[in-house]
Amino acid sequence: MVRAYVALGANLGDAAAALRQAVKALDSLPLTQVLQSSSFYKTAPLDTDSGEESPAPGEDYFNAVAELDTALSAPSLLEHLQQIEHHAGRERPYRNAPRTLDLDLLLYGSARIGSARLTVPHPRMAQRAFVLVPLAEIAPELVSAAELAAVSQQRIERLGRLSEQG
Ligand code: ATP
Ligand code: MG
Ligand code: MG
Repeated sequence: MVRAYVALGANLGDAAAALRQAVKALDSLPLTQVLQSSSFYKTAPLDTDSGEESPAPGEDYFNAVAELDTALSAPSLLEHLQQIEHHAGRERPYRNAPRTLDLDLLLYGSARIGSARLTVPHPRMAQRAFVLVPLAEIAPELVSAAELAAVSQQRIERLGRLSEQG
């Protein structure tokens, strides 16, 4: 089994419901179980591609991170993540477009992967409070204080545990 971390995000439709469903779908994947999921967080849409925070169009996001144990290979896990996104109605009209569900593979054990379809660790995670803050909540040993300080300007509001979400 490999310990993997998946970032969940949504800002179209009922985003909280999409995240709740996605955690269930992850737990239902073959050879996979969800060990824990973070609180849900509300964050402003950001374009972090440049390495800096700049506003992006769209509604606020709901974000969370899930910790998995999986015996799926990393490429297979990515395919399953994309299937779950597809079932949630994910469309990609343009880069960083509002989305019903985004599932990004942050970490897959200690693997470093650089293929055409998959880069792990996720190359933009260090620029994103919406990734680092929920990840630090469930796996504090994986996120340093310096990394959190570097994204502390980004607005992020903790909404509560999954079980508390209406
Ligand atoms: P970002 O990656 O900046 O968060 P995004 O999540 O909006 O952007 P997507 O449209 O969801 O981007 O994915 C684009 C492509 O990224 C996918 O087709 C997938 O092949 C590739 N990709 C590479 N590495 C990863 C990863 N670690 N997790 C998820 N997708 C990845
Ligand atoms: Mg993403
Ligand atoms: Mg994605």
